[in-house]
Amino acid sequence: MVTHSIPGLKADRLETRGIINAIGIDLVGVAHLYVYIKCFFLYFAIANSYVKIYIELAEKLFGQKGLYCILNKIFRVFQHALINNQSFMKPFALSIFVHFFVCNLFGQVLLKPDRVFDGEKMHTDWVVLVEDSLITYAGPTSGMKKIKINEEVVLSGKTLMPGMIEGHSHLLLYPYNQTSWNDQVLKESESYRVARATIHARKTLLAGITTTRDLGSEGAGYADVGLKRAIDQGLIPGPRMLVAGPALVATGTYGPKGFSTEIDIHKGAEEADGNDLYEATRNQISRGVDFIKVYADYRWGPNDESLPTFTQEELEIIVKVARLSGRYVVAHANSAEAMKMAVLAGVETIEHGSGGNREVFELMKEKGVAYCPTLAAGESISEYKGWVKGKEEKPKRVKQSITAYQLALKIGVKILAGGDVGVFEHGDNVKEFLLMDDYGMSAQQVLQCITSGNADIMHLGNNLGRIQANFLADLIVVEGNPAEDLKTLKKVEKVMKNGIWYID
Ligand SMILES: [Zn+2]
Repeated sequence: MVTHSIPGLKADRLETRGIINAIGIDLVGVAHLYVYIKCFFLYFAIANSYVKIYIELAEKLFGQKGLYCILNKIFRVFQHALINNQSFMKPFALSIFVHFFVCNLFGQVLLKPDRVFDGEKMHTDWVVLVEDSLITYAGPTSGMKKIKINEEVVLSGKTLMPGMIEGHSHLLLYPYNQTSWNDQVLKESESYRVARATIHARKTLLAGITTTRDLGSEGAGYADVGLKRAIDQGLIPGPRMLVAGPALVATGTYGPKGFSTEIDIHKGAEEADGNDLYEATRNQISRGVDFIKVYADYRWGPNDESLPTFTQEELEIIVKVARLSGRYVVAHANSAEAMKMAVLAGVETIEHGSGGNREVFELMKEKGVAYCPTLAAGESISEYKGWVKGKEEKPKRVKQSITAYQLALKIGVKILAGGDVGVFEHGDNVKEFLLMDDYGMSAQQVLQCITSGNADIMHLGNNLGRIQANFLADLIVVEGNPAEDLKTLKKVEKVMKNGIWYID
């Protein structure tokens, strides 16, 4: 199994600590030359490689962009002084400055909630220590080493758990009852869609979703790749993203449809067929996708029913190329036939799968392929068409999704929690998790699914989805006990991503 680690943070932090320790020694009076050499390297490290760290510092301390600018200017003054006048005092002053600002900020934060859900189980009498972007300890108070604690956060009556992981989102879409999918794809420019997506990203993070697997830009090209970059650089708040770019569809199968035969319509995904799939897959990889999404079927049957789009050989080409690059493939598929073809071709997850039958779910279990039922999408679309949940009988589409989900659960297929959010409101991701609870899973199972379960399926399980030492500090705080009442997830009180609190 290939593992995608989260870019470079761990290494950055460890090196920073080394530098801080070095300054600590300097300040107690080692030889001047030694100080000079240390500070000289420190200057280079900060001026050239650690811009990101002091951006985070400023945010952590003051949360103000302006302050970042001031810090930036101060550093520039030192930089200038050092370049133009390499006297001993300048780097020494720099070391004091950095010592003052850095050492006092990079301390350990002790979190003391009533309960900790570690991604697998609920614990009482646990504390969690966070330093920089990492969890350094999680366990009983008695097992904690004596260390310097800069801040203690008591969270009475609360549960601390890993940041939730969304398995199926479209940050470049928004609810179809506001603007139809066709109109979003055809009438809205990419710049407009990106502007909206930045707000969607912020809402998602503040709802406690610290990571999302975004399943296609739906006509917005590689805008998701850029969005991910802006979030990673701290330019805008948002969840960590795994992105699919435009996704792959077989020619003529995907929307928008129904226009004059003389017009070439902008499509919601990239069309490619046959041997061209080698190039198309490689092209998407080269432009920054984290995985490949294919539409293994779509509503292109004589009566608009979902039927397979790519042939078996075509699906195999896509999987073969993606695997060579260390990436995996996920498939949109509703019909049992397309689900089976995609599974046999080697995809890792099946999205929607409302037509899944016993045979295909047993095959998925055998091959370790995960199932993302997207229950909330079907319900939302039915509601947009006038269905009143709880008062009227469930529409056929909703019933089918529930039946498939329950069958998959019974057979023991791995479930990936993902709602197809974008079809419904961003930040309302918990809607899917509540439906998973309503239709078959226990609250505890859902909690596992949306943390460690999703992380493992998405190849992130080495540093996300669990609260344990050396994992990234993506944490959320909720009132009460979500294992007893999952609805508490609707009101996430605090969100930490990468060791930084994000507050509305
Ligand atoms: Zn989707």
